[in-house]
Order: sequence, then C-alpha cells, then structure tokens
Amino acid sequence: MSRIQLIDGSPVPEDRSHTEIDPKTGQQKGYVVLSPEERAKGFVKPVRHSYIHEKCGGRTSMGQALSETYARDPHFYSGTFCCTCGTHFPLNEFHWTDGEPMDPEKQEAWNAERDAREKREREERRLRRIAELERELAALKGSGSTVKADHA
Ligand SMILES: [Zn+2]
Repeated sequence: MSRIQLIDGSPVPEDRSHTEIDPKTGQQKGYVVLSPEERAKGFVKPVRHSYIHEKCGGRTSMGQALSETYARDPHFYSGTFCCTCGTHFPLNEFHWTDGEPMDPEKQEAWNAERDAREKREREERRLRRIAELERELAALKGSGSTVKADHA
C-alpha cells in the first residue's frame, strides 16, 4: 500500500504527468495527497479548508483529502494554488484563515506570539474585573454607612 496517491485515489504516475498544468484553470491535472490509511494515523494540526494568499488577499478553499494531508503532515507541501491569481506560489506567501502561517517554518514563532497575546489579554481581563469588583465593593460599603447614619 502506497503512502501517497492522487486526490481521486489513483496512483501517483511515475512520469509525474499529474503535475501538468491545465491552461484553463492554472491547476495541475492531479494533486498528491497522503493515503487515507496514512491520514488516519492522526492529525498534528487542525483540519482547515481555506487559506489566504498574502500578496492578493484572495481566499482559496480545498477538499478534504488535501486539508487532511496538511493536518497530518504540515511539511508535506512546499507550495499551493491561489484561485485569485490562478497559479501556484510557495507556502510562505499564505496563511490559514485562522491566521496561522501555512509555512511550517513560521508556525512556531506565530504560535508563541499568539500564546503571549492571549496571556496578556487574560491578565488585562483579570485586572479589569478586579477594578470592577473594587468599585462595586466600595459602593456597597458606602451605601452601608449611609444606612447606618440614617438609623443613628
Ligand atoms: Zn493570489
């Protein structure tokens, strides 16, 4: 059983004829994906279907087999197709719609930055909540002494 196949399930042609570009679409005749058995071994990334080309801002969507291949092995491809430009570019020109770069070399830094940002936002929310509660507490204490004063 081969580790790889074309999207339609056929074997990858030895003469690489699947890489021929269809002049009407700019896309290859066929694209290589990991076999279903290989993909079933587990994903190391979420299964994502759409990505953005940073040069043109265009969004491209792809099918399940390609999406799962990226999720199983983010290093499998070195480039991808942009529907807006109608041609292929290196992965470092694209990011997933959730913001993560498609280029695995850039992913670690992007994730570290996101984690730091989320941590900062959590801390800001915590401080805002403390300030809110302190104001509430001060208001409660204030109204308490007013009541006491009334009954004195
Ligand atoms: Zn583009």
